[in-house]
Amino acid sequence: MAISDSLQVTKTRITAACVAAGRAPDSVSLLVVSKTFPGSAVREAFAAGARAFGENYVQEGLAKAQELADLPIEWHLIGPLQSNKTRPVAEAFAWVHSVDRLKVAQRLSEQRPAEMPPLNICLQVNISGEASKSGLLPAEVAALAHQVAALPRVTLRGLMAVPEPGPGALAQHRVMAALFEALKAEGLALDTLSLGMSADLEDAIQAGSTMVRVGSAIFGAR
Ligand SMILES: *Cc1c(COP(=O)(O)O)cnc(C)c1O
Repeated sequence: MAISDSLQVTKTRITAACVAAGRAPDSVSLLVVSKTFPGSAVREAFAAGARAFGENYVQEGLAKAQELADLPIEWHLIGPLQSNKTRPVAEAFAWVHSVDRLKVAQRLSEQRPAEMPPLNICLQVNISGEASKSGLLPAEVAALAHQVAALPRVTLRGLMAVPEPGPGALAQHRVMAALFEALKAEGLALDTLSLGMSADLEDAIQAGSTMVRVGSAIFGAR
C-alpha cells in the first residue's frame, strides 16, 4: 500500500476509535514514527499531510532532520536519551517523550537555544514493570513531574509509555490515564498522554490517549 493510503487508513482507525470511545476525533493527534525508514519515506508522508515525526535514535533523527531541513517538520524524540547527547537534541527537536531523569531534563533546559520555543517534554513511565524497559516507576512520576515543570526552557506536556502487548494491555493503558489525571489534579497543566502504537492504538484511545505514535502501520514492517 502507498504511504498516503496507509496514512489515511491510520487516520480512519483513530477517528473510529474516538467515536467508539465517545471522544472528539480531534482529541487525538498522530505522531508518525519514521525510525529505520529513509528520508524519502518521510517526504512522502509529509506530502500526504503528516507534520509530526518520531525518531528513536538520536543520530538517525538528527541526520533526517538535516536532510529534510527544507520541510517544516516537528521532530519528536521517542527513544532513550543519554545525558551526554542532550545538546544536539535540544537544538533540533521540538519534543522529547523519553525523559526519566532530572539530570537529562536539566541539561535539555540549559541547552535549549534562547531563540527557540521551550522544548516539549513527556516523562516516560515503565508501566509494564519489565526490567528491560526504560522509564520511571509510577510511584516516582509525581516528584519528577514537579521538578521538570519548574525548569525554565522546557514545557512539561505529559506522560509517555509503551504497555506490554497481551491481555493486560488495556489495564496498563488505563493506569497511565489515571496517573495522567492524578498529576493534573495536583495542579500540573498537562495536555499530552503519549500512548498507543500500530498494534494497540484503539486500546490507548479508549483509555484516554491524546497522541498515538504509529510507525509500521504507515511505513510497513521494519
Ligand atoms: C517504534 C516505536 C513506536 C512505533 O511502533 P509501531 O509498532 O511501528 O507503530 C512507537 N513508540 C515507540 C517508543 C517506539 O519505539
